[in-house]
Amino acid sequence: MKKIVVIGGGLSGLSSAVHLVNNNFKVILIEGSPKLGGRAYSYFDPKTLTEIDNGQHIMMSCYHDTLELLNIIDAQNEIKIQKQLKVNFVGIGNQQFSLAAKNIFYPLDLLLGFLSFKVLSIRERLKVIDLFLDLMCCFEEDLEDLTVEEWLRNKNQSQKAIKNFWGILCVGIMNTKVGTASAELFAFVIKEIFLSGKKNTRIIVPRSGLSKVFAEKAEKFIIENSSEILKSERVINISRNDDSLIITTQSGMIINADFVITSVPHFALIKILDNALKGNLVDIRLEYSPILSVHLWLKNNFFNEDFYGLIDSKIQWIFNHDGFITIVISAADEFVSKSEKEILCEIIYELNKFFPMFSEDLVLNFRVIKEKRATFVPNISALVTRKRISRNMQNLFIAGDWTNTGLPGTIEGAVKSGKLAAFDLIAQA
Ligand SMILES: Cc1cc2nc3c(=O)[nH]c(=O)nc-3n(C[C@H](O)[C@H](O)[C@H](O)COP(=O)(O)OP(=O)(O)OC[C@H]3O[C@@H](n4cnc5c(N)ncnc54)[C@H](O)[C@@H]3O)c2cc1C
Repeated sequence: MKKIVVIGGGLSGLSSAVHLVNNNFKVILIEGSPKLGGRAYSYFDPKTLTEIDNGQHIMMSCYHDTLELLNIIDAQNEIKIQKQLKVNFVGIGNQQFSLAAKNIFYPLDLLLGFLSFKVLSIRERLKVIDLFLDLMCCFEEDLEDLTVEEWLRNKNQSQKAIKNFWGILCVGIMNTKVGTASAELFAFVIKEIFLSGKKNTRIIVPRSGLSKVFAEKAEKFIIENSSEILKSERVINISRNDDSLIITTQSGMIINADFVITSVPHFALIKILDNALKGNLVDIRLEYSPILSVHLWLKNNFFNEDFYGLIDSKIQWIFNHDGFITIVISAADEFVSKSEKEILCEIIYELNKFFPMFSEDLVLNFRVIKEKRATFVPNISALVTRKRISRNMQNLFIAGDWTNTGLPGTIEGAVKSGKLAAFDLIAQA
């Protein structure tokens, strides 16, 4: 039997391992840290006796590879899928705006949903619809050299529409602001979410902690199918000897493998590949964007929706977990160097602006989690260079959310990359 090693136990590595195992291959999955899940995990917080995520994750019903993976590992009941698109937006002073689409007469309902989004003037809403129609019917523009902001301006979108509609989508989807993010990728993802079928526009949230949804179920599936997972075993080198790949770990373990899938971030991969294996991987320069999550336990939780989007705020999303709420700030560069106390003060101030009944006295407990390298920045140069990177180098396959999946750094990007690597390997084995 061929020896197959997957390096990295984040969602891309788990996806590779699950697909290989599901196709009757045996794998050894090596994870450097003591836990699986990579950048999408949860842990038990002893102080509040709560399972909390390293950061709230949402998925979309167009995450087909993720939904397939969840089915294979029997985790489909761990998620909650909206019946139809509905997002409650809140403006300063608790003004409520809804963006909803019934999806009976798709895509008409969706366009009517945009038409009812009263944050924008009627003229601005019509321009938004105009751009959606453009994307839907006859979109053949070359956007490779444009940022999202440049593209939207070319399309006559007002400053307010860019800030209070497109900007919210862009930061939410790509964790990058409109002035930096690639228009090509943004337009593609917008089409996938809103214009690729009525079933694809719904939002999905996990029902339990992220590790319960992904890592624990995937681990069970892999182990029960006679494969192996090594945790706390950091790979320090991958080299080639004739047709074999030699993996060396920090603890001194040496494994000769017939096939290897690497599922680690780009910065980690460059450190462990022998020079002869690096190829044009050194040409890609990625920057990273942080996400800040603040979990707040409240005396009186008056939030009654599952989640809220805030209009014109530093905070993008509030998620309601009954026992506590989670504040999400994407592209959170300005918060990274701030202390927890400073962050809490700003969050309370901001929440009070939007929900006047919110005050400091309500906060019983809080946790601040800064993920400094949450996702890669999908700017123009990153996307141009990643297109040139090969996913396969003979028996070495490269996965990870940063690889050339055509998607931003997301759960779906990670899971898709892992699946692609697994099937490329299967085709060669
Ligand atoms: C706070 C936050 C919020 C997010 N929100 C969303 C969201 O709402 N929706 C969405 O779709 N996506 C979201 N994402 C993005 C998503 O989590 C990532 O895109 C995805 O988890 C990346 O998976 P990956 O397997 O590519 O990489 P990683 O998760 O980074 O996995 C790589 C793994 O490799 C291991 N590793 C590294 N080096 C070595 C080595 N030398 N030897 C062995 N193992 C090694 C690491 O320990 C890690 O476990 C969010 C991310 C963060 C951080």
